[in-house]
Amino acid sequence: MQTSGPVKASAEALRGLIPLARSPQQFLSVYMQVPANDDTMNGLRLRLASRLENLAQELAGTPLAKAFTEERRALEGFVKSVRPGGSSLAIISSKEAGVWSAMWLPNSAEDHVRFGRGAYILPLVDALDEWEPVGLVEVHKDKARILVLEADRVSESHHFEADVPGKNRVGGGAGARYRPGSIGAEAQHSAGGGAAARYERHVQTHVDQHLKEVAHELDETVRRTNLRRIFVAGAVESRTQFRTHLNHELAAKLMGDLPVNPRGGDAALIGQLSQASRQAERDQELALIQEIVTRAEKNQGAVAGIAPTLAALQDRQVRTLVLAPETSQEGRQCPACERLLPPEDIVCPRCDAKTRRVNLWEELPAAAMSLDVALELVHGQAASDLWAYEGIGGLLKPPAAH
Ligand SMILES: [Zn+2]
Repeated sequence: MQTSGPVKASAEALRGLIPLARSPQQFLSVYMQVPANDDTMNGLRLRLASRLENLAQELAGTPLAKAFTEERRALEGFVKSVRPGGSSLAIISSKEAGVWSAMWLPNSAEDHVRFGRGAYILPLVDALDEWEPVGLVEVHKDKARILVLEADRVSESHHFEADVPGKNRVGGGAGARYRPGSIGAEAQHSAGGGAAARYERHVQTHVDQHLKEVAHELDETVRRTNLRRIFVAGAVESRTQFRTHLNHELAAKLMGDLPVNPRGGDAALIGQLSQASRQAERDQELALIQEIVTRAEKNQGAVAGIAPTLAALQDRQVRTLVLAPETSQEGRQCPACERLLPPEDIVCPRCDAKTRRVNLWEELPAAAMSLDVALELVHGQAASDLWAYEGIGGLLKPPAAH
């Protein structure tokens, strides 16, 4: 097999590999951590060799042994020459499907080696979170900008200069006399009354039109980039006014205000934005787990734990499946109906067939994909909370109307 790489992973490359979870062909999927002090990568090679040897023993005498041996040979030849280049190495390989991909992941993935039907992609789903785009809208009366940040880099930026009277005509013309906030405007207010108030309304109409255009562009940007999180910065008054122009969909994506230091520069801004986005993600994960646990205990629209979640998932009741990915759980799978079962089900309750042992975390992504269920991975405190329920839970679809 033609091996190449490893290359630095990109969001696009990961998105291309994730559907391989559902492939009917056999894949060797390898994830190896690269410790910072492993300059020679000998540590990685040793760990990998021992995992491959274990797999070889498990597969010996099975119909998969020959295909595995070929994959193993290609992989071992490849890792001989690999030099450090990232936090963890991911290799997805299938001679049968004609797939070879070796990538450095931006995050640290646990060691994991699997050979079986479909690629094991849970760590790729996790890595993709690193590229979760985040948006910033900075609004002022007379100008605005929209920034989209992906992998801590600005991937899109839109600038707006509004045609607000009093801004562009400074230094001449009628507008200058009424420039809001200037001494002239103050005088005009107290002396002229009506004209100044009319003028103020005129300015407001322009500001409103400008903010409406920004909201429209934001809507387009969200559609284009799949933004799930947006922060707002800028003058308080403009932020408040801007919000009135957001539709429900956009308003739901607003994570809060970002206090931007105007003298901080763009590097500081990007740092602030990615930090705020990570915090928002952690908060959302925690809220999701709290909702699942609370509702599951009352039996109201959620499930938690292996047995109830697997049952609800395969009975098409789950809309969001949540896993704590760090430590996988063992379960069973029926060879006849392919149903995933809790570890105690040695025999399939549906077809009476003897079930086989599987790693549920390896099988669940493909199951979720084929059932069109969203998959969320949680970390940190949210993951710890979910571990009280075997690291798995789900939000149920609303009950069908009668
Ligand atoms: Zn069965």
